[in-house]
Amino acid sequence: MPLYEFYCPQCDKRFEELCRGTTENLPCPQCATESKKVLSTFRAGWGGLGSEAAASSRCSGCSGKSCSSC
Ligand SMILES: [Zn+2]
Repeated sequence: MPLYEFYCPQCDKRFEELCRGTTENLPCPQCATESKKVLSTFRAGWGGLGSEAAASSRCSGCSGKSCSSC
């Protein structure tokens, strides 16, 4: 089952859920606000690489310096 990333505008946070593919919205696990599926953009940052990624602050998607779009 694929892992999808969702964004909660209420908490301003992202969370990941396993779901079956067609789900576009899920309730936030913290506040139950309907959260939208977003493109999963990262592998690093979840599980030990967070500080390293923050230190270099380089986008691995487009090689921009402070990319917020990917
Ligand atoms: Zn929330």
